[in-house]
Amino acid sequence: MNKTHDVIIIGGGPAGYTAALYSARAGLGTLVLEKLAPGGQMATTLSMENYPGFEEPISGPDLALRMENQARKFGAVVEYDTVTEVVTDGRLKTVRTPNNTYTCKAVILCMGASPKKLGLAGEEQLRGSGVSYCAVCDGALFRGREVAVVGGGDTAAENAIYLSRFCPKVRLIHRRDRLRATKVLQKELFSNKNIEIIWNSVVEELHGQFALEGITVRDLETGSRQKLDVDGLFISVGLTPGTSLVEGKVALDTEGYIITDERMRTNVPGVFAAGDIRSKVLRQVITAASDGAVAAYSAEQYINDTFGS
Ligand code: NAP
Repeated sequence: MNKTHDVIIIGGGPAGYTAALYSARAGLGTLVLEKLAPGGQMATTLSMENYPGFEEPISGPDLALRMENQARKFGAVVEYDTVTEVVTDGRLKTVRTPNNTYTCKAVILCMGASPKKLGLAGEEQLRGSGVSYCAVCDGALFRGREVAVVGGGDTAAENAIYLSRFCPKVRLIHRRDRLRATKVLQKELFSNKNIEIIWNSVVEELHGQFALEGITVRDLETGSRQKLDVDGLFISVGLTPGTSLVEGKVALDTEGYIITDERMRTNVPGVFAAGDIRSKVLRQVITAASDGAVAAYSAEQYINDTFGS
């Protein structure tokens, strides 16, 4: 059993590292547990144009690394370890990984969200062989080839624009006649010669056994079907919250996101949540960072009130 930390932050995305920065600067013993690499979803973003202070776009991985380094600079400890269990009841909270058991006075849940699946036959099998959820990660493999993107939100729009740089034809397939993506992205999409938008349509079938060989798209208005010979399909239909560790332990909304108050408190004393994992109106790096700061501030107050300063 390790020593008791003041605060354990699960997840090293913008919410987690901002919480760590504020927590460490408040003098709290702060441990960040991240399973893979800094940044969370931000790490899959090639170019960020809407994070204040960076007039020239900054890459997601670059910003993530800076956030991690800044948190470390003020004393936060970052360990790369996969959390397998969080015990949320009791005065002290317990966090387990395969090789360690940690205790803490307060825990901040920053596990973010991951791309949603379409649920098509063969989707899992063809993942990595034509089916992808991350254009920045896999897009370059499709240089010079025809690809499709599914979805109508910011992620789908950004992925289509990114892929159009090296794919001669990118089809954006959206189930409605209007995009959800922000206007600035829509403008860029509509003026891009390499992008064709297929409206009111869904992907119905994936072809290919060992590699994607094409997709069948169904027009929801006419019912007609067409087969498209694409080599890559980038599924960008939204997010699934990373709440599996805390299901049944903290209150979730109908979509599975953690419910907090404006101080980032969950319904369990000493358990806070920040970032994309939280039920909220706008999921952005800036709002994740904001949540992280508030969560750390609230955790500090909670620790002072509960354990004495
Ligand atoms: P999103 O905003 O939830 O959009 C998901 C899109 O996929 C919607 O257009 C939705 O259609 C469609 N969709 C959902 N389920 C589908 C299905 N089963 N079949 C076909 N289409 C389906 O998700 P997101 O684009 O991943 O964005 C998530 C959050 O991150 C948002 O808050 C977004 O603003 C943010 N984000 C921001 C940036 C940025 O600021 N640069 C970049 C990426 C993401 P409907 O429109 O019909 O519902």
